[in-house]
Amino acid sequence: MLNVLVTGGAGYIGSHCCKELYLQGYNPITVDNLVYGHRENVKWGSFYEADVGNPDQLQDCFAKYKIDAVMHFAAYAYVGESMEAPLTYYTNNVRNTINLFNVLLEHRVNYVVFSSSCATYGNPVSIPIDEEHRLSPINPYGKTKRMIEEILEDLDIACGVKFVSLRYFNASGADPDGEIGEKHDPETHLIPLVLDVAAGKQKAIKVFGTDYRTPDGTCIRDYIHVTDLARAHILALEYLLNGGKSTAFNLGQGRGYSVLEIIDKVEEITAKKIEIAHTNRRPGDPPVLVASNQKAIRQLGWKPEFSSLADIIRTAWRWHQKI
Ligand code: UDP
Repeated sequence: MLNVLVTGGAGYIGSHCCKELYLQGYNPITVDNLVYGHRENVKWGSFYEADVGNPDQLQDCFAKYKIDAVMHFAAYAYVGESMEAPLTYYTNNVRNTINLFNVLLEHRVNYVVFSSSCATYGNPVSIPIDEEHRLSPINPYGKTKRMIEEILEDLDIACGVKFVSLRYFNASGADPDGEIGEKHDPETHLIPLVLDVAAGKQKAIKVFGTDYRTPDGTCIRDYIHVTDLARAHILALEYLLNGGKSTAFNLGQGRGYSVLEIIDKVEEITAKKIEIAHTNRRPGDPPVLVASNQKAIRQLGWKPEFSSLADIIRTAWRWHQKI
């Protein structure tokens, strides 16, 4: 059984990947400092509490488990915070990742699946965005993701490390079995915030801008179910194990929904009236982000199965009622 080190395995996407790894016969080993991760999310495989920025802890972990591959999720992921505290992001997301890569090289681990983001593209010049689109991130968070991709490109040339960078669009939904889901503190994402209103925890959802050049004036995003994301990670790992070349794949469902469409769907699924508060645009939000997912479909044999808007919101709502 292959041992896969999962940094950030106690987080939202990392924990769904651990479940999928386990179900598909791999042994996930979660490394998480529990700053944003939750201990109760680690239900599959082993847990090693450590900070990716701590070389001694990582050395100990790599010595304890014979690691065959790494899935690297551990990172800070709030765009707004990254604008206000860029060094925190460069330290945590870049410096600590370099630390991880040093240990990985020492232990001759050759396979990395990296949790990247559509934030690496910046403001799109064409929609849908394919992997050839220029990479021009507009905030420190997106820049840290691109920097790691570049470091991996160099490590491939210098040391033969094979990697896949997975550029997520809007991760959403929850485990269809209801075992894990999204729990961010603070929560900034649209779907859980609309569900807070449905649950009576908040009075209204703020809609950030209604004057975009989109059909209903609100921003359009490509929402992809977290279980579909998780399955793509296993496919990416297997692609590498089978000798695939280092590359990047977009992970999105390939169609977009506006903020108002999300709110309508939440009203339909929860049967609750959602109060809306129109507010100003959030700085840095591009009007439309939609992925071309053809490369992952073609080269990984990936197929989003849980990403209808109804399934995303139904699974998220089921989870939301538990927390
Ligand atoms: N959004 C909104 N109100 C909120 C949170 C988000 O109108 O309280 C909008 C946001 O402007 C964006 C979309 O919902 O167009 C998705 O935002 P989210 O933060 O979930 O993900 P992002 O696309 O920023 O990664």
